[in-house]
Amino acid sequence: MKRILITGGAGFIGSHLCERLLDEGNDVICLDNYFTGSKDNVRHLLDNRNFELVRHDVITPYYAEVDEIYNLACPASPVHYQYNPIKTLKTSVVGAMNMLGLAKRTGAKILQASTSEVYGDPSVHPQVESYWGNVNPIGVRSCYDEGKRCAETLCMDYRRQNGVRVKIIRIFNTYGPNMNSADGRVVSNFIVQALKGDDITIYGDGSQTRSFQYVDDLVEGMCRMMATDDDFSGPVNLGNPHEFTMLELASEILDLTGSSSKLVFRPLPSDDPKQRRPDISLAHEKLNGWEPTVQLRDGLRRTIAYFEELLQR
Ligand code: NAD
Ligand code: UDP
Repeated sequence: MKRILITGGAGFIGSHLCERLLDEGNDVICLDNYFTGSKDNVRHLLDNRNFELVRHDVITPYYAEVDEIYNLACPASPVHYQYNPIKTLKTSVVGAMNMLGLAKRTGAKILQASTSEVYGDPSVHPQVESYWGNVNPIGVRSCYDEGKRCAETLCMDYRRQNGVRVKIIRIFNTYGPNMNSADGRVVSNFIVQALKGDDITIYGDGSQTRSFQYVDDLVEGMCRMMATDDDFSGPVNLGNPHEFTMLELASEILDLTGSSSKLVFRPLPSDDPKQRRPDISLAHEKLNGWEPTVQLRDGLRRTIAYFEELLQR
């Protein structure tokens, strides 16, 4: 049995990871300040004697003896990370330093949840890990993009300077149950709008693309990454290479929900990337043939079922 710390564990991805690692028989400490996450996401785990839920902010050091750390604490939706951008930077940078310091002291392995946003508005398509990106350092998304880039730098410097065993994953747009219905991301927005019969808000002309990964595929990739040899730190892309425009996504969701919601067009947010698709060759090679297995329609069906139930509560 390993003792595993998950920061941001009460969030969307973190809650799925808590469940998976508990199912494997581990001792899990879930640490969260509940900014965008919720106790509701992990309430069903509270009776498990191997599970501990701790209210804590990662910008303050945390002390525990652990074998592995998954550092996920950080708001992920543009609405929330732009709400208090200085706090977002502190969470990314100071939070990563605190967790890397903990990994250094305990000898734990640490996995850093980085993002496809490190590629910015990419001029290389699909995005490979060797591409350094096209990020605006002074725009409204910079608190998140540059915060995550700095966290990657810290990981590699703790590795070079202190021999910390780090693992960097670059997560591409991920969706599924336990997303916050009010967090402003496109999948949750469109599903909730469709279910309520509200207008579907397309930002810009809807021709921008994203590649959507179902959360179970991501969690599998994260666990495989943590299990790789110590000499492999990544970064490695984890995402689904099937690319869709936002108009195509809206049409799938309208079809699956049977909703008669209308499309309305709203201004495109500043620095919104035009296209995004991961090259997952490295993940496939290093993570025992890892590749996403859940098709968009199947993943959307499961996510719609979750939101239907949530809206009835
Ligand atoms: P989320 O907002 O649901 O989860 C983030 C969690 O971190 C929340 O529970 C929140 O309360 C917590 N948190 C935020 N600031 C904190 C702080 N200072 N101290 C302690 N806890 C804090 O988002 P998510 O989608 O589950 O994202 C998890 C991680 O994965 C994030 O680091 C995010 O940047 C990364 N990521 C997610 C996606 C995606 O598509 N979902 C894509 C790329 C990267
Ligand atoms: N988007 C949209 N309508 C919404 C929310 C988002 O058209 O109600 C667009 C957004 O402009 C972006 C894409 O959907 O082009 C993905 O947005 P999200 O916030 O989910 O993720 P990110 O931009 O970080 O990839």
